[in-house]
Amino acid sequence: MSSSDCLFCRIASGGIPANGYYQDDHLVAFRDINPQAPVHFLVIPRQHLPSLDGAGDAHRELLGRMLLAARDLARADGIAEDGYRAVLNVGADGGQTVHHIHLHVLGGRGLGWPPG
Ligand code: 5GP
Ligand code: ZN
Repeated sequence: MSSSDCLFCRIASGGIPANGYYQDDHLVAFRDINPQAPVHFLVIPRQHLPSLDGAGDAHRELLGRMLLAARDLARADGIAEDGYRAVLNVGADGGQTVHHIHLHVLGGRGLGWPPG
């Protein structure tokens, strides 16, 4: 899939507006359009990578950046003290619907386990 066909590439490049609140040279973070918790945001790389299953050694640093950005944004959003969940849905059984890797960060309420 080329970036012009990919929803999250278009959000990352600013072609589609999203409720963005963080961006740097590598990453963009924005609020999920259909939040599943009081706080629910997505951290995505600017680079198109379909899923964790498509990642390789070349993506080590990028994956680390995504996790550390999630940590920082969760703190800034005030959910770190009570806790939160950071989730990658991968493939059909994982519930992945957008095929550009994205880290969900959910918090602001107690989250059940196991997930559905
Ligand atoms: P997945 O199911 O692939 O793990 O998660 C995709 C997420 O992207 C869903 O939680 C969905 O609500 C969110 N989403 C889909 N389209 C848009 C959009 O256009 N804008 C925003 N902000 N979120 C979106
Ligand atoms: Zn993409």
